[in-house]
Amino acid sequence: MARALQLARNATGTAAPNPMVGAVLVQGDRILAEGWHKQAGGPHAEVECLRAFGDGPVPEDAVMVLNLEPCSHHGRTPPCADMLVERGVKHVVVAHADPFPEVAGKGIARLRGAGVRVDVGVREAEARWMNRRFLTSVNEGRPYVILKWARSADGRLDAGPRTERVVQRITGADSHTLVHRWRSEEQAILVGSRTVINDDPELTVRLVAGRSPLRVVLDRDERTPAGSRVYGGGSPALLFTGRSRADLAVDQVIVPKDADPISTMLNELHHRQVRSVLVEGGAMLLQHFIERDLWDEARVFTGPPHFGKGTPAPDLPHAPLRTENIGEDLLHRFHRTQHPADAWCW
Ligand SMILES: [Zn+2]
Repeated sequence: MARALQLARNATGTAAPNPMVGAVLVQGDRILAEGWHKQAGGPHAEVECLRAFGDGPVPEDAVMVLNLEPCSHHGRTPPCADMLVERGVKHVVVAHADPFPEVAGKGIARLRGAGVRVDVGVREAEARWMNRRFLTSVNEGRPYVILKWARSADGRLDAGPRTERVVQRITGADSHTLVHRWRSEEQAILVGSRTVINDDPELTVRLVAGRSPLRVVLDRDERTPAGSRVYGGGSPALLFTGRSRADLAVDQVIVPKDADPISTMLNELHHRQVRSVLVEGGAMLLQHFIERDLWDEARVFTGPPHFGKGTPAPDLPHAPLRTENIGEDLLHRFHRTQHPADAWCW
């Protein structure tokens, strides 16, 4: 199962909106074949694994190890549970069942109904943590929310308006690169209008290899300039606005005056099968997510500068579960439901 999880992680940032799944066919101590689900629309992990194994008969004592229950529905590919039975697999081990309504135990039931032995619950916590974006999306009907910000040593987000700042960046190069990797791992990235106006970020992945997320801007009062870099080419952008903007060629969703913008955004992203969103600021938007208790993880950098004045950083109701050094900076990791700290070692 450790190897299956390792294989599954190869698809970090590419399997979404599907879950990450790895498959290993073993006989005793020997790995006969392996595979993983590379991207949505492509073959599932079980199919990749048996393709790698070849057309020959699967040995009677071989075991198929998977971190997720095999599918039982006709999606973009035929059901894997049927394929495992047809190929003569007699023993399957899975970490946990798939909560996706069209599967939800039916894959395991189909296997058992055909006389296949199925063991469930191996390395389950680790597997659930790995697929926390998919599981949160299916179970709670909203994307997995990761809040991210950087604060000065004295707890400020900035030292005042950009034009008056002496220090433009709180964190160092290593942290900056890490943030780009995080962007490549999530399906969407969200900022408020003030961040666009003050910082004019591009919000793409440039410092590491990987795909750029959908760039989402909340600007209810049409304050962001049409020439902002976030609306530029390279990767798609989605604007949540109070009124339709004819000066922008990006995708737009109208947030009615009396609607709650956070719920409107999360519902729309869920509707678009976005399983995760990285919220990069600013202060008010981050605070709204915290107050509404609509977040899962927070990743907070503390950099060396002292500002003495400026916007106070948001407050979280918990202590960090883990703190690590990233160059000259500290990275504090929080989880809303106080998930065990060793999760970040997996
Ligand atoms: Zn499948």
